[in-house]
Amino acid sequence: MKLILLGPPAAGKGTQAEGIAERYALAHISTGDMLRAEIALKTPLGIEAKNLIDEGNLVPDEIINAMVSNRIRQDDCANGFLLDGFPRTLPQAEVLSELTDIDAVIDIEVDSEIIIRRSAARRVCRDCRHTQSVSGDEAGEVRCEKCGGELYQRADDTEERMRHRLEVYHESTEPLIRYYTERGLIIGIDGSKSIPEVAEQIFACLDAIANKQ
Ligand code: AMP
Repeated sequence: MKLILLGPPAAGKGTQAEGIAERYALAHISTGDMLRAEIALKTPLGIEAKNLIDEGNLVPDEIINAMVSNRIRQDDCANGFLLDGFPRTLPQAEVLSELTDIDAVIDIEVDSEIIIRRSAARRVCRDCRHTQSVSGDEAGEVRCEKCGGELYQRADDTEERMRHRLEVYHESTEPLIRYYTERGLIIGIDGSKSIPEVAEQIFACLDAIANKQ
């Protein structure tokens, strides 16, 4: 299967992507993770992307399109892949449509105020990049639930940045819902529920698609 995960920032795309990729043996392609890896390595691309990401703005389409078109040609994508955070603009969707066909677009729908609350609690592991939620009291002490690594808050997850990212999402990414609805590909998922409940909704829809293939 070739899938896209769509939804506002902090809707739970990364968390759900881990479960989906494992269940259907898909390559998990997160453009955000790819960019953060470039930043950590201080590559020219990473240096160019860092400020844009920290400010909550999008990285230019040409950079992202080149990155994804190289990535989906790699061997581990032969059995299918899950795009997490791509496309984020109509030009990116157009380029993707020239590269490959997509089987479904999972749109995780979450209200903006829930997003703001979730992003304030969101932490990422420095070692394995797993994302988890922490409560206010434990925020300083807690370690990664997967590998025990140190957790940090992304610079783009503060309330002010998240409000800006939501504006960028409404302006640039939300039009993709209509684009993929017109192509009969959208699966709407209620992302306000708990992580297992959201996963259950997604798996029910994807099992039906996988069984038809
Ligand atoms: P994410 O981890 O998906 O929330 O992405 C973090 C940041 O990386 C975004 O806020 C953008 O600055 C950048 N980014 C990730 N994917 C894309 C994309 N498809 N197009 C443009 N910028 C992106």
